[in-house]
Amino acid sequence: MLDNLQEKLDRAGVFQHGIVNPRDVEFSETVRGYCEENLCRQYGKTWACPPAVGTVAECRERAQRYNTMLVFTGKYALEDSYDFDGMMTAMRDFKDIAARLSDEVRPFLSDYLLLSNEGCGRCGVCTYPDSPCRFPDSVHGSIEGYGIFVSKLAEQAGVKYNNGENTVTYFGALLFNQ
Ligand code: SF4
Repeated sequence: MLDNLQEKLDRAGVFQHGIVNPRDVEFSETVRGYCEENLCRQYGKTWACPPAVGTVAECRERAQRYNTMLVFTGKYALEDSYDFDGMMTAMRDFKDIAARLSDEVRPFLSDYLLLSNEGCGRCGVCTYPDSPCRFPDSVHGSIEGYGIFVSKLAEQAGVKYNNGENTVTYFGALLFNQ
């Protein structure tokens, strides 16, 4: 286990976290099907989302090279349930949390996989699919794009999927071996 984990999570800005075994996580073609409906408009737009991340089976195999999955969340207040701007701001903020957590653990883990919320957004215009990712070591695959049912994952990890009216909660996962 990472030393001083709670301090690292606090510095990154994580709201809640829990640990699961990646072998207990369901990687679902149904969830991948939601990606393909492209309601988030990220499908086929970045290296962090399907189809670039590979098939669901490939994502499962990649995740199950690790024996520990630290599920983490960010919770954000919205003005109301139609607060699209608030959701977009929260989405970007959570990507920053994921990036900070990656920075926190990099000195201590020789190998890990960090998944974040939908899309990437790091570059103004993504290189996908014409040329390789500009930052392959720091792009974080989409947790939903991996086919993970986040509501089930929340239950397994003992964290809240829904944090109440007029809030949005984003999920990420740090996979590593201990
Ligand atoms: S880091 Fe840049 S090139 Fe790589 S997936 Fe993100 S937006 Fe695309």
